[in-house]
Amino acid sequence: MRVHIVNPSHFSFGTGFITPRWMFVLAAATPAKWGDPVLSDESLEPFDTNQLETGDVIGIGVHTGNALVGYELGQRARARGAWVVYGGSHPTLFPEEALERGGAHAVVKGDGDVVWGQVIEDCASGAPKRIYDGGRIDASKFRKARWDLMRRKSYCWASVQTVRGCPKHCSFCSVWRTDGQKPRQREVNPVIEEIVELRRMGFRFIALADDNFYPVTLEDLRMAARREDKARYNELKALRDERFELMALMAQLPSDLNFFTQITMESAEDPEFLDAMRAAHIKGALVGIEAVTPEGLKDVYKDFNLAGDELVERLQTFRKHGIYILGSFIFGLPSDRPHTFDATADLAKRADITFAQFVTLTPFPGTLDFEKWEREKGADMPMVDGIPVSRHWLIPQGKRPKLLTPHPVMSGEQIRQGTQNVWNNFYSLNAAWKRSDILKAFRNRVAFVVASKVMLQAFGNTGLSTDSARASRATKLGGIGFSLLQKMFAAPPLPDLMVPETPRATEESAA
Ligand code: SF4
Repeated sequence: MRVHIVNPSHFSFGTGFITPRWMFVLAAATPAKWGDPVLSDESLEPFDTNQLETGDVIGIGVHTGNALVGYELGQRARARGAWVVYGGSHPTLFPEEALERGGAHAVVKGDGDVVWGQVIEDCASGAPKRIYDGGRIDASKFRKARWDLMRRKSYCWASVQTVRGCPKHCSFCSVWRTDGQKPRQREVNPVIEEIVELRRMGFRFIALADDNFYPVTLEDLRMAARREDKARYNELKALRDERFELMALMAQLPSDLNFFTQITMESAEDPEFLDAMRAAHIKGALVGIEAVTPEGLKDVYKDFNLAGDELVERLQTFRKHGIYILGSFIFGLPSDRPHTFDATADLAKRADITFAQFVTLTPFPGTLDFEKWEREKGADMPMVDGIPVSRHWLIPQGKRPKLLTPHPVMSGEQIRQGTQNVWNNFYSLNAAWKRSDILKAFRNRVAFVVASKVMLQAFGNTGLSTDSARASRATKLGGIGFSLLQKMFAAPPLPDLMVPETPRATEESAA
């Protein structure tokens, strides 16, 4: 019996941008008695189900975006006689759907790190349960990824996780409901060991694949300090101190390392944190800006963000501290108007944002927006081929409406076109070359422009294309770009790189 772990994807680029970390974590959770699992990432190449034999176990990890292609894969795998198991954020929310449509024998809800071994055991004995509840495990139980099973040349960037969960509650986001609002922060040592392992292999760029790298704000601390009972304050302070401890260790790593993470905009009020990030080689961060007006921010329950000129100033603060921003914007919010596209593009320029992504409002399951939409529409939800559009991920890509929720003043096509225009303008050759002046060496500036164009093809054009021919052209161009970037981003391996030690450990060993 062999264990297969597959990351399904609609698009296969040949080379991937970021390692799908969950596959390598699940590999670590596979008991040694079953041998090394076979890992297949369809964002590199499609999975050939002919390699499955009767009695093999296939673990398929899906999120809402790849649920349909994952279900098709599961059905083919079941027809080959394999035990089919689903996990990931989407099956956590809709376990029955994977059983009904994906040919699943079993579904794992929540974290797979601990329960996966049991699932394989039950499959091997021919009696898997329909549903396993992996829950939200404690951070001390998070597994280190099996990077030894990765093909180094297949990816541009590696990924390491330092914390799961986010204390916020944005209306369009399901993270705080699936991963929880209590930050589960990993101890610093296993994190730094993984980072060192990746640099030894020749990765220079590493994404800190966290829900929110800045889980405790200064305001959280101020509020907790006002309480008579100091337990909450001490808990938050310990989390913050651990962040600084991790960053102090990262600062001792080779200076050619570049980390990228996700944080909330409030971190700009915390210069000490930003400076520690910069010292730790965390040079970029994805910040969910979402909207540039107070009305738009209210639409998404994100009024802790700023708007207008204050927003520009806040975003420039990151640059002043040496952190480059990938800004994320949403179009199609109820308060958006035709001029919102230009206003957003203009703000992105003024705020010195290095990279940006522009998405159209899609109510994803597990979010407040989704629940509101289903509740309000009830039986009047429009259908495509008998599938309600609220189950948009089950509609084949070509037939899936580009805009799902009706907008008060703009048509779906108007919003799609406006969004596409903003992508094209932001990533025009001129604009990308101008933004590349943050780098000195010509080679790095060229890499920056290539990266900008890849962003446009792989993330802008594949999602917004109106026909499959364009999407497949975008996939091809994205693949060429990824392969170029892989070479540009790689560094010579450093097999002898040592793991830095905490000052406390160093002092103890000296004594
Ligand atoms: S969008 Fe970001 S800040 Fe908001 S809940 Fe999700 S992870 Fe947290």
